[in-house]
Amino acid sequence: MTDSRRRTALSQNRASTPVHLLYHIRVTSPHSHTPTLLVHGGAWAIPASEAAAHQAGVRAALQTGHAILDRRGSALDAVEAAVTVLENDPTFDAGRGSFLTSDGRVQLDALLMDGGRMRAGGVACVERLRNPIQAARLVLEQSPHVYFVGPGAEAFAAAHGMPLIANAELVLDRERQRLALARQRQAAGLADETFSGPECQPPGDGSISTPRQHPSDPILRDDKSPETAFHPATPIQKKGRPQGHDTVGAVALDIHGNLAAATSTGGTLNKTPGRVGDSSLIGCGCYADNLSAAVSLTGWGEPIMKLVLGKWATDRVAAGTSPEIAAREAIAYLYNRLQGHGGIILLGPDGRFGLAHNTPAMAWGIATPSGLQTGLTV
Ligand code: ASP
Repeated sequence: MTDSRRRTALSQNRASTPVHLLYHIRVTSPHSHTPTLLVHGGAWAIPASEAAAHQAGVRAALQTGHAILDRRGSALDAVEAAVTVLENDPTFDAGRGSFLTSDGRVQLDALLMDGGRMRAGGVACVERLRNPIQAARLVLEQSPHVYFVGPGAEAFAAAHGMPLIANAELVLDRERQRLALARQRQAAGLADETFSGPECQPPGDGSISTPRQHPSDPILRDDKSPETAFHPATPIQKKGRPQGHDTVGAVALDIHGNLAAATSTGGTLNKTPGRVGDSSLIGCGCYADNLSAAVSLTGWGEPIMKLVLGKWATDRVAAGTSPEIAAREAIAYLYNRLQGHGGIILLGPDGRFGLAHNTPAMAWGIATPSGLQTGLTV
């Protein structure tokens, strides 16, 4: 066949190929992928007294999620399970132990996204669900819709078998006290330094990096290494009046090459009832698409939402930027454009990943077949 005939045959073949097959040709690959899970437990001025609890919580989430990936389970199951562990841990601002609204209630938001099937499920402002990420999974799997809020979300979850609990079961005394302090600070006209810490951290400082790019790379850092250990002499500990902001999230790549992302939060401390942050909004605090990347963000939600930062970061990966660089660029953009503070975990379809934050700390963890790593700064 001549070259020109071959070209004509190829283009006829393309023209007759259904669009959905072309899509699958692009998003799946014959070889197996290295199962990878990244989790975060919030980016903020984590005080030294809470460092161990954050590391332990993140490690437990990694273990649960990675066990699923290890037995050839899906990325979606892994991120849901990892986030469920974090929601159940009162250390974090998700599930029980979350921050309180200005009128003293817990209101939870969560989103789950499957980058292989391009399905998503989200809930917001739910008050009677212990694990909103599981409600998000129900929305993803069992609803033609993508997002439910408030009583409608609770009714949907209950209709699909989730127990509804009293909001008081999610409220801790620790959080009542934290709310009282926040209100005193507000009344005194003091700034909220939750994310920035008492001293604003510029983006792109030396703390933004990516721990490990490939499972065969040597272990870069472990819990006890001086590089990742929470340094007791950081300004946040000396001067801070830290308030936790521990939104949780996970991104995963499974052996089949599918990406998924999950984010769950109690939102910001002292928020007005009904406020929804970035965490559960598609493309803001969470996004996954096999054609680009999976991402979960944490931090001050309003600037993240305005920049649609999760989608911004995954689009950059799709355009060829490495996740390591795209993660740093996203946090730099967040700060430079809107003086926002936060953190990001970003995972590409080839298993490369990036983590970055411009808050004084971010609880993070990575699991690959070569082991688990956790840390409080990157
Ligand atoms: N992004 C969350 C929100 O604004 C808070 C957090 O990440 O801690 O609701």
